[in-house]
Amino acid sequence: MPALFIGHGSPMNAIQDNVFSRTWRDLGKWLPYPNAILSISAHWITPKETKVTIMTSPKTIHDFYGFPESLFLQQYPAPGAVDYASHTIELMQKSHVKSDHEWGLDHGTWSVLIQMYPKADIPVYQLSLDYSRPPVYHYEIAKDLKKLREKGVLIIGSGNMVHNLRMMHMNRDPYDWAIEFDRMITGYINNRDFHSAAHFQDLGNLAKMAHPTHDHYLPLMYILALAEEHSNIIYFNEGFDLSSVSMKSFVVI
Ligand code: ZN
Repeated sequence: MPALFIGHGSPMNAIQDNVFSRTWRDLGKWLPYPNAILSISAHWITPKETKVTIMTSPKTIHDFYGFPESLFLQQYPAPGAVDYASHTIELMQKSHVKSDHEWGLDHGTWSVLIQMYPKADIPVYQLSLDYSRPPVYHYEIAKDLKKLREKGVLIIGSGNMVHNLRMMHMNRDPYDWAIEFDRMITGYINNRDFHSAAHFQDLGNLAKMAHPTHDHYLPLMYILALAEEHSNIIYFNEGFDLSSVSMKSFVVI
């Protein structure tokens, strides 16, 4: 099963027909049909621990504000994936991953899946991000997820390669620093230099501009960890939204 890094951007992509959401819809038709989906979303942070949702019917979480009511009315009633979730906890035993019965599907997950798989009939579960750990930690623990790909689990890292909401701007070209950071990270990925991608904070101010907080960068670590030396990495949705959010996404095959 391929693995995906998706730049999710605005929650409005869940209900808008635009260049990004159209690609998500095509992806759902083009990818092999998964047995289950594991989403690692920028929007589920659990301090000092990593958790996996184990539940039969995860709720749709509307974790945003200031958006139209039509977005709050959206539901994504996909079943949970209890068996795959407990298997994931086993696979990640040495990282002391815990089970979670409270979360559900946050918008980093459902805003994308509602376009990719509108029928909501594929079981979905989530893995949280321990923000107290450095990016390289996430890269290391994610290697234990590799076996899930063989079991037909589609692993999606949902974040953004550049994500600075303080600087977002309508109707303007992307900032030079945003383009520069996006280009640097893409270069690392193309050279399979995942070590440098994990140590992106060494880029200093450029990294701080691209990610004032790096919650949207961490999902990228999980998907890079699933790539092998020979894996093909195919980009899509290469472009910026609101001048400071890179929508660049890729599939690892
Ligand atoms: Zn987000």
